Amino acid sequence: MKETTLPECGHWLGSERRHCRTADGVRRFVTGLRCPAHTPRALQGLPEIPPGPGWPARAWTTPTPDSVASVIDERAIASGKRRSNPNTYRAAQAAEAQRRAS
Ligand SMILES: [Zn+2]
Repeated sequence: MKETTLPECGHWLGSERRHCRTADGVRRFVTGLRCPAHTPRALQGLPEIPPGPGWPARAWTTPTPDSVASVIDERAIASGKRRSNPNTYRAAQAAEAQRRAS
């Protein structure tokens, strides 16, 4: 037998005495399938929780421009807060001195 039932919102519209049955953007919730207007959070007047798994990986990272990252690194190394070898430490201190001079 072929499954022809499309996912549709199962929210009961009490005033209209029928189920919502909207098929657009329906997602599965603990309470069943719900359209965006009838998610558990929408019914409580709360903003939707962003979906977790399935989001692009970059959504979880804060992109730092390389230039900014290297400045942070240099300053941390120059201040001795960041472990590095003596050569890198001296180079970073020189870079800091140059930055202050300019
Ligand atoms: Zn609905």
